[in-house]
Amino acid sequence: MFVKEIHPDLIHDRIIAAIAQMSFEPDPLVIDALQKALSIEDNELARDVLSALIQNSMEAPKQKIPLCQDTGTIVCFVEWGRSIHIPHENLQEVINSAVRIAYKQYYLRPSIVEEPLFERRNSLDNSPAIIHYEFSSEEVFKITLAQKGGGAENMSRLYMLKPSADKEEIVELTVKTICEAGGNPCPPLIVGIGLGGNFESVAILAKKALFRPLGQAHPDPRYAKLEQEILRAVNATGVGPQGLGGKTTTLAIHIQTAPCHIASLPLAINLQCHAHRHVTLDFLP
Ligand code: SF4
Repeated sequence: MFVKEIHPDLIHDRIIAAIAQMSFEPDPLVIDALQKALSIEDNELARDVLSALIQNSMEAPKQKIPLCQDTGTIVCFVEWGRSIHIPHENLQEVINSAVRIAYKQYYLRPSIVEEPLFERRNSLDNSPAIIHYEFSSEEVFKITLAQKGGGAENMSRLYMLKPSADKEEIVELTVKTICEAGGNPCPPLIVGIGLGGNFESVAILAKKALFRPLGQAHPDPRYAKLEQEILRAVNATGVGPQGLGGKTTTLAIHIQTAPCHIASLPLAINLQCHAHRHVTLDFLP
């Protein structure tokens, strides 16, 4: 089998650059969606919030100020083809070293504690990242990175439903999750919904759903229809931008599915705030 090598220094340097890019440059699809939300909004408070968010997104890259002060947990999805070799290095250490350097170099807020319950001492360099690996028979090596803020992550939920649950229950639980969350996850939101898999994998499905290009419909028309149904129901709640009321609580609903056990219907709802920071690095373009 032909083996391609990717030098760890290249991975390291591109991750540092990607963290800077995510921190300062907004996703253009989010700006378009915020502008669209502003164009249909008539609640004055919501209009003020949306205008401020758009202005914030414009100023961040100009002034090299992070889009949000919560520069988040670094989440990585690595797609690794079996013909790709990274010589002499442990990829996890390459990623964590890049995180440590980027957070110090760009003065990003370190947000990770080394131990979760007792001392909660800050690691001071935002390491470690949370890393998921997917191995593939394709010739591929991609790393998708995200900065996931704590506010939106805290309000995310996981339910182990019975297989008799229907789509109305999915809509109801998503609306309930978002109403209970109120302004805490900093709406307008992007909502990743995982359906299927099992207890641990459904949360990963929901996270991955967030990284689909904003508003791109599910390829299966039944799920695409359900995404629109949930979007309408969530936006009818009136939670609104920053939870202060208005027509746009959510910019997009993305569903991702997987096979599951006959006795289960796992559902995970991963909330993402308007500071939707993510980059995919393709090392074999
Ligand atoms: S939820 Fe998002 S926008 Fe709100 S503070 Fe956290 S990262 Fe920032």
